[in-house]
This record gives sequence, structure tokens and C-alpha cells, in this order.
Amino acid sequence: MNSIRLHAGNHSFSHLNYADTPLEVFENDIIKGEVITREILKQKHQALTYFRFPYNSLGNDSTTHQQIRSFLTQNGYTVAPFTIESEDWMFNALYEDALKTKNVEKAHQLGQNYVAFTLLLFDYFEKLCLDRFGRNIKQIFRWEPDQKKRKALLQAEPENTILHAEYDQLTKRAGKN
Ligand SMILES: [Zn+2]
Repeated sequence: MNSIRLHAGNHSFSHLNYADTPLEVFENDIIKGEVITREILKQKHQALTYFRFPYNSLGNDSTTHQQIRSFLTQNGYTVAPFTIESEDWMFNALYEDALKTKNVEKAHQLGQNYVAFTLLLFDYFEKLCLDRFGRNIKQIFRWEPDQKKRKALLQAEPENTILHAEYDQLTKRAGKN
């Protein structure tokens, strides 16, 4: 990973599972999700290009997938690729549960574990690439920081710097090599 570039994309408005959602409803949710993402990207002088399916759920079959693909292409979207992901949703669920029960120590431990696990995967996939291709490739780390939740957590516990620390450690490691 020679350089690190953070890029935000549309991940829909209400995080519906496409496999359980009628096409039209899902399309409307994508359009609704554009508003905030476009605004954030505008501030960084970037255009909205990427869409990622919630739960990576691409549809029930190739027909329904093709329908949404056409919609995405017509609206200028590329489906966001990634090579590394470290189950942030799972750590997040446990993390929130720990905070709800005011178990700050456990929350802190979970944050540390998440970082350690992610760093392990960075190493693993880089090594895998070297073994298979004899060189490094640009890795794409899929990460879903929930800004709204994050803000609420930090407001509730302003002294809680775990989230900031995680971000710093990961971006530092991703920029290495
Ligand atoms: Zn998601």
C-alpha cells in the first residue's frame, strides 16, 4: 500500500437488504442516499462514483442483479470493490452493546481487538499477494464508519477517544510500505 486514499461512497439511505426489497423501493433508497454523500464529497471536490450494497447483498438471482446494475450504470455508479474487510459490523454490534451496559473496559478491549484483527488481515492479504503474484497490489479496505453513531457516542462520552485511536492506527498502517 504505497499511498492511502479515503473515498466515500453511497451505501443507500436506510441500509436495506436488496434481496428482500422490491427493485423500485431499493432504487429510491439509493437516490435518497445520494443527498448527504454528494454533499460530503462536494466539500472534498470529489464526484459521487461508488455504490456499495448493504450487507453486500447483490440480489436474489442474476436477473434481479442485472436490473439494479442497469439502474446503477445509468446513474453513473460503479459498484465499490474491496480486497480487505474485517467484520467491522460485528465488532460494532458488540462495541455498542458494551457501551449500552456501560462496560467501558470491555468496549475499549473490543476496540483494541478490532484494530489488532484488522492489522493481522492487512499483513495476511499483503503476504498472500506476494506469494501469488510476486508483488504487492493496491489493497482496498472496506470500512464503514457510522458518522452519525460515532458522533452520538462521542457526545455521550466526550472522553471516549477509542474511536479516534482506532482510526489513527488503521490509517497509519494502511499508509505504510
Ligand atoms: Zn453497511
